Order: sequence, then C-alpha cells, then structure tokens
Amino acid sequence: MTDTTTTSEPRDLGFDPDELRERYRRERDRRVRPDGAAQYRRAAGEFGYYAKDPYTERVEREPLTDRVEVLVVGGGFGGLLTGARLREAGVESLRMMDEAGDFGGTWYWNRYPGIHCDIESYVYMPLLEETGYLPRWRYAPGEEIRQHAVRIAEHYGLYRDAAFHTRVTELRWDEKAGEWVVRTDRSDVMRARYVVVSSGTLSQAKLPGIPGIEDFRGHTFHTSRWDYAYTGGTADGGLTGLADKRVAVIGTGATGLQVVPHLARDARHLYVMQRTPSTVDVRDNRPTDPEWAASLRPGWQRERMENFLATLAGEPVEEDLIGDGWTGTARLQRQMITGAVDTTLDPAERERLDELADFATMNRLRARVEELVEDPATAEALKPWYRYMCKRPGFSDQYLQSFNRPNVTLVDTADHGGVTRMTEDAVVVGTHGYEVDCVIFATGFEVGVSGVVSGTLPVHGRGGTQLLEAWARGPRTLHGFSAHGFPNLFHLGSVQNANSVNFVHILSEQAGHIAAVVARAAKDGARHVEPTVAAQDAWAATIAEEGAGRDNSAFLAECTPGYYNGEGSRRGGAPTSYAPGPVAFHRVLAQWREGDMSDVLVGAAEPADG
Ligand code: NDP
Repeated sequence: MTDTTTTSEPRDLGFDPDELRERYRRERDRRVRPDGAAQYRRAAGEFGYYAKDPYTERVEREPLTDRVEVLVVGGGFGGLLTGARLREAGVESLRMMDEAGDFGGTWYWNRYPGIHCDIESYVYMPLLEETGYLPRWRYAPGEEIRQHAVRIAEHYGLYRDAAFHTRVTELRWDEKAGEWVVRTDRSDVMRARYVVVSSGTLSQAKLPGIPGIEDFRGHTFHTSRWDYAYTGGTADGGLTGLADKRVAVIGTGATGLQVVPHLARDARHLYVMQRTPSTVDVRDNRPTDPEWAASLRPGWQRERMENFLATLAGEPVEEDLIGDGWTGTARLQRQMITGAVDTTLDPAERERLDELADFATMNRLRARVEELVEDPATAEALKPWYRYMCKRPGFSDQYLQSFNRPNVTLVDTADHGGVTRMTEDAVVVGTHGYEVDCVIFATGFEVGVSGVVSGTLPVHGRGGTQLLEAWARGPRTLHGFSAHGFPNLFHLGSVQNANSVNFVHILSEQAGHIAAVVARAAKDGARHVEPTVAAQDAWAATIAEEGAGRDNSAFLAECTPGYYNGEGSRRGGAPTSYAPGPVAFHRVLAQWREGDMSDVLVGAAEPADG
C-alpha cells in the first residue's frame, strides 16, 4: 500500500488531490442554502407537540419553597457525575432537577429503535467500577445506558429530593442571604447556596422549516420522542405497527444510521430522504468477552478512559487499548477537536499531510459503499464527498445494506436543499411527491452551549447583572466553570475548556473538579466561590495564546454545510477552548487544585477580590 503521508504525486497516491478538492467544492455548493441555520425551527409553540414527553406521566406536586446546599440543573451524565462526586465529598443537602421524567439526559429522551452509543461502553459509561457494573456489549444499546444512569442515581442517593418534569426558568443571586433564588415552571421559588448547571449541549429537538409541514395529516414525530404506541416494538426493533405503513425518514446523521435498518426491516415501504450522506465506517459490535472481563483489575476503567482520551487527543500512548474507528482517525479529528499536534512540522506541511490522510480515509469509506450497496446509482448517491470531520463520523454494519432491500428507496434531496415541501399525504422533493402514512424526523438538535448561554435560562448575578450581558462579547470564566459577578454558580459543558468525542469523560473531570472546589470552600470557611477578574482575564489570555496558529476557518469554509460550520455560514476561527486539548487541560486543573484556590475562594483565609 502506498504511504500517502510522504508523497503527493497522483500516480503514487492512487488519487488526484486536485480532483478530489474540486469534487468536494461542487458537492458543498450543491448544498449551501442562503438561509443557513435559519432553515430550522424549534420544536416549540405550534410544534411543541414534537417535544412532549411520551415516556413518563407528569405528576402534580406542591411548589417547592425550601433551601438546599447544592442544586444541580440537569439529570444527564454531567449532573449525575456532579451529584455522585458531591455525595462523595460529603454533601447531604442536594437537589437534582430535570425537565425529563427521570435521570438519563440524552438517554432518557432518545429511545428510538437501534439506539446505541457509538463510543465504546467501557470508556463511555461512567462509574462502572464504583457501581459494580460491566456493560454487556462493546457498544451499548441506549436502554442499557439509561438504566445505568438510574443505577448511578440510586447508588448515590440522588433520587432523594429530586424534582423531575421541572424546568428552571430563572436564577437570581440574593446578595444578602448569599444564595441563589431558583424559579421554575412549576411555580417553585426555592433557594440554593450553590447552583451547578449541566443542561446539555444537544438537547432541544429541531425540525426542518419545510413548507407545509403543518399540513401533513399522517402520523409524525421526532426520533428523540419515539412513538412506540404507533410503531409497536421496542428499541430492539419488531416495529409491527409499521407492517402496512409507508414511512419517510428525514435525516441521515448518526441517528438516521441507527434507525434506518429497523424501519427498513419492518415498514411496508421506507423512503430515506437524504440531503448529505454520512460516512459509514465498520462498527464491529460484540458481546463483552467474559475472559477479558475476568482479567480486569481495580482501576481498569480510569486507565482505559485515559488511554482513549489521550489517543484521541494526539498524546503519546504506549498502546491504543481501544483500537476502533475513533482511535484510528484521531489525527483527522484535530480539525474540529482540540488536542496535541505534531509541532516538528510547519503548519502548512502538517495540513498538507493531514489532507492526504483524509483523502485516503474518505476513499476507503467510499469504496465501502460500493462494496456493500448492490445498485450502482444508489451506491453513488450514498458516497460522502467532504473531509472526514465536516460531519460527525458514522458507524454501522447494517445501514448501507438496508438499501439492498426491495422495500427501501433512497431519495436524494441534495439538489433541492432538502425536502421541498409537505402536503396532506406526501413528502415532495422537487416536483415528485412520495405518498406516505408516517414521517419521522431524524433531523437532530439545536446546538446550544446550554440554556444559560442560549438565554432560555436567565441568570441574574450580583447587582442584578444578567449573565448574557456580562458575556456579550463572549464567555468570561476561569477554566469554563465560574464567572466573576456570579458567585457559587458552576457550569458544565464546553465553554472555555477542552473537549473530546467522549464527552462523558470531559463531564466526569468537570464534576470532580466542581466537587473539589465546593469541598475546599467548606473546609476553608469561604464565604463564597467566585473567580477574580484577574484570574478569568488570565485564562482568556491563555486560551488566545495557546490557540494562535490553530485557526480552522479554512477547513470549515470548504466543508459541506452542517452544524459544525453553522450550516455553511460560520467560518470558524481560532479555538475558543484550550487548544492543547483535554489531557493537557486536565493537567492544568489538577495543578490548580494543588494550590490554595485563592483566586476563587472569597472570604477564606486570604480574601480574593476583583
Ligand atoms: P444531525 O444533525 O447529525 O442530522 C440531521 C439530519 O437531518 C442530517 O442528515 C440533515 O442533512 C438532515 N436534514 C435536516 N434538514 C433537512 C431537510 N430539510 N431535508 C432533508 N434532510 C434534512 O442529527 P442526529 O440526530 O443524527 O445526530 C445529532 C447528534 O447526536 C450527532 O451529531 C451526535 O453528536 C449525537 N448522536 C450520537 C450518537 C452516539 O452514538 N453517540 C447516536 C446518535 C446521535 P444535512 O446533513 O444535509 O444537513
């Protein structure tokens, strides 16, 4: 095989980079829409039906007017991990709050047939050793993950005082009392000394703004609110209710890839409405090997998680313990996810070599389509023409094969910017109408950093200052956790920190960090926790300094539209997170925790002030 990293001659490479670049541009131009991100609409108002909880009955209760030490907003893994670590740190007075009817976050809402996590379960599912659980599969089904969330909550006593089906509508700092006043959509007006916000980044279902969507008289729902009453079956399949139905699924992202094989098997006819094909790499899921399980020694999960994180972040590792499609493409992920890069090469040469490696990977994935899909025209339409990280990478050993079934039709909507319109009984693409009984939206989620940043959760800090006003020119925090003027308020997520595709690992570190700060504040008798202006300015300067030379605008400008590049409208820029990546960031945090925390502990031995 040719080593594509040392040559650039088309005859040696087996492909022509100029031709591929040109093809990628043509395919991108076919898809760029003038309305960019405005093409979508929220599943709210007249479309609120799409966001209703189909899984748990809402139970009426009296409004809460009490006080807790810590309130955690969000019962997904970020909130659960924070709750767990706070309990370990001795915090007894703790309330978990979520809009959902139970714990689980993403895994509460998403229960569609075929749902799996495409990150290896042994590194994705947190607190395995602490709860004494070992996943049954290498890539776990969603229901197993949801049940694990419940297991964590039970193990750490997090159901006690929890409030579900409750949306926090306002946080207001009461300076005199030194605590937060928390208002919710259930008329609660309660108090908390600390508030931790972990409300997720991809949690609001979004719908395409397809004209006529409201005219459709058949059945319709979003994948994150699966209607099993209509389809029959479970997340394992067996959708018997669809046996006599013509179904259209709109969207072929990570969710579409998992749901299509089940719909293909069970629907009378399935139309897959595709605008941009996903990459579909090998999945190779398998049951947990009992021999391997027996060989695990205490500390194994931490070691495996660190190994995965380091491999993805481009850090030196002795051995890649996971060895899957994520670790095999770590180098290509650097365009979108911060991490270490080879500094022995000048940036232009590094980019040239990365691009060649990218072409080679994408050629392999296009060849896989040809190998698995029998009809040549369908195979051609399923080939992705863009650089690997322009879209979230996909994995499946069943998706492409679904198109070999006689009851499945791929409808390529790219030339029309997506589905053209909907009528009472059909989905129309161009001038062609496809009559269907049911339309399923696998159209993803709004990309928000959290309700705090998107403005759906107003926060009024000291002196009534609104957080969004204080952050008008971008977030200002220390390490992404807390901000001056907003005492005792912590954020989890991806603001001014470092990220990874194993987001739960990132959340796990953040949760541990917050618990350590809260514990230290108690030990040192701090009045409250709030970074100094100097500390948050220094962190902003560090981010800018480390991000110099890491601008990804050129990469994103060439990308096919998607939520990574604001549907083709956002041109990227220098990283707003810590460029050396999560492993280096966690080292920064660990070192900081070794210190006296005087830049956040106010009213302790050494008062820290702005
Ligand atoms: P995505 O946003 O990734 O995909 C939405 C899909 O809808 C795209 O294929 C998009 O096409 C298509 N679409 C949108 N509007 C139209 C239109 N008007 N006409 C036709 N098609 C349209 O959503 P997903 O739910 O698939 O995934 C969201 C995220 O959730 C993932 O990126 C991932 O982070 C996470 N996820 C993770 C999983 C895991 O295993 N860990 C599994 C599933 C999801 P186009 O690409 O052209 O915009």
